[in-house]
Amino acid sequence: MNQSYALFIVFAVTFAAGFAQASGSDRAAAQPGIQKSAFGTMPDGRAVALYTLTNRPGITIEITNYGGRIVSIIVPDRHGEMADVVLGFDNLEGYLGNNPYFGALIGRYANRIGDARFTLDGKVYHLPANNGQNCLHGGPHGFDKQLWTARELPGASPALELTYLSKDGEEGFPGDLSVKVVYTLSDNNELKIAYSATTDKDTVINLTNHSYFNLAGQGSGNIIQQEVMINAERFTPVGPTLIPTGQIESVAGTPLDFRKMTPIGAHIDENYPQLKYAKGYDFNYVLDRKGPGMVLAGRAVDPKSGRELEVFTTEPGVQFYTGNFLDGTIHGKGGKVYAYRSAFTLETQHYPDSPNRTAFPSTELKPGQTYHQTTIFKFSVQ
Ligand code: BGC
Repeated sequence: MNQSYALFIVFAVTFAAGFAQASGSDRAAAQPGIQKSAFGTMPDGRAVALYTLTNRPGITIEITNYGGRIVSIIVPDRHGEMADVVLGFDNLEGYLGNNPYFGALIGRYANRIGDARFTLDGKVYHLPANNGQNCLHGGPHGFDKQLWTARELPGASPALELTYLSKDGEEGFPGDLSVKVVYTLSDNNELKIAYSATTDKDTVINLTNHSYFNLAGQGSGNIIQQEVMINAERFTPVGPTLIPTGQIESVAGTPLDFRKMTPIGAHIDENYPQLKYAKGYDFNYVLDRKGPGMVLAGRAVDPKSGRELEVFTTEPGVQFYTGNFLDGTIHGKGGKVYAYRSAFTLETQHYPDSPNRTAFPSTELKPGQTYHQTTIFKFSVQ
């Protein structure tokens, strides 16, 4: 090969790769990596960034360091048509306004703590009540509203690290809690979220991600026809304010049974007290597991587009919530209306109210220990 021919090939390949990236049409040629851009400014003047993670097959996931929120997940259907499958906003202002934890990193305690208090080492800790008399998702100024420190990690797959130091007494919880969350997008279309934390005083912790999924595309109507399987024979029943009763019951013979792939809407309006309390599904499922490690928590499919989501986790539970409190008042990305039941969540977690329930797996963290939770959202098509 002579020199000018070689140069021509280099030029042609570079041009083709550039074109594929610019047009976004050839996902096979996507350039893996992370792009950083401005997302807005906090009321106190701090700059907020948006990180776009791209893998080789061409999936993109946007994450902001405001609340560690997943802003978008753009994945193909069975014909290669791309759609954004999570609810959210186009800019920071949307997230600063009222919204039910879209895409957020939840802490210090995912889901509810009854009567907004718990006892640890004989001491009563009072938390802010932001959901009736209960504390929901770590209180009104939880991790979802904090600005995290972001760092792009070197490696073969795009990986973003977020860190945050939650000071002793923040939202009523004890101990300086040092938290790290790493989001990694693999070429298998898996988004891995690896959480870790340490404390300097005995405390409780329960971290999760609160992405609202609609596999037909965000803002495209309700999720009633989408199908779900949850790998759980049992759940933690709740009382009228959605605090666990402390029992663990079988899903067999109830409308909560998702052991086989079932359309979300198949039983959602049945006259069953648990469903009435929650206005639909909003339950912690006790995952079937033989020991510690990663297990399949659940699977969801949109039969029309073929888009599939699988969730794997190290956690003992998963909260399946069907957007029963969405009511069409929020307008999200591209002005889309977020109507009643227009998304579902699969929030991997320890059980709600565990600090007040000694029979549930413990959420205590002590100095010298490291908290770990890992969850994978895997996207594919059927
Ligand atoms: C809870 C719901 C709540 C939703 C949004 C879910 O994790 O279980 O009850 O409405 O989060 O805050």
